[in-house]
Amino acid sequence: MQINKTKKLYEGKSKAIYATDKSDVVIIEHKDTATAFDGVKKENLESKGQICAAISNLIFEHLEKNNIETHFIKVISDTDILAKSVEVIPVEVIVRNVAAGGFAKKYGVEEGLELKNITLEFCIKSDKLGDPMINQCQLTALGLVTRDELDFITGVTHKINELLTNLFLKAGIKLVDFKLEFGRYKNKIILCDEFSPDSCRLWDIATNKKLDKDRFRRDLGDVMAAYEEVLKRLKAVLS
Ligand code: 5GP
Repeated sequence: MQINKTKKLYEGKSKAIYATDKSDVVIIEHKDTATAFDGVKKENLESKGQICAAISNLIFEHLEKNNIETHFIKVISDTDILAKSVEVIPVEVIVRNVAAGGFAKKYGVEEGLELKNITLEFCIKSDKLGDPMINQCQLTALGLVTRDELDFITGVTHKINELLTNLFLKAGIKLVDFKLEFGRYKNKIILCDEFSPDSCRLWDIATNKKLDKDRFRRDLGDVMAAYEEVLKRLKAVLS
């Protein structure tokens, strides 16, 4: 059955979400816009939407095959997917295997420092507040998640990290850090949003070359060539 876009529900920096003629299904469109530093730096990068969609789709399919429930239903075009309509939990879950970015800066350690244990950080999703970090007591105190939901999210996040660290390793890539989002769907918590070089840090194992959005943030050049390289390597290991 053909499912059609009806009205636009939300337009963010890199994605738009549309309602459809099926009430529990949305269409998510990946856009070519790249932004950084709360939207202060903004550019159109040709084909970014397509490449991020393709990478994210491969990752979500891989997670589904490994019993992680996600919003992903199916691909409908180069940039669009059908997804379950979730109640988004307004919390970003950040996983770090290696110190980089905000963590390296905040704690005054060198980028690339191997962490003695995996770290999880929670941030409130709020452009107005600048996505502030929040601890677990505060998250439950504000009613953003229940204790049980938080325990589930923590457990599934570690499983996702293990699966994806191994997957990227096979592709010759170190999974440095990444951000996940979850939503409520039919009394369950499922993974939503996307997983692409826009929302993670990926370093080539042999050279430490950055293959992610830091190329855009830090004006390192060849942003799309790096994203394409990630897609090519993932396709090779997943085929
Ligand atoms: P950091 O805190 O070092 O800036 O980010 C940690 C990781 O989470 C990086 O991989 C970064 O790309 C991702 N991340 C953090 N905040 C956001 C966000 O608001 N949007 C996206 N797409 N990724 C984020």
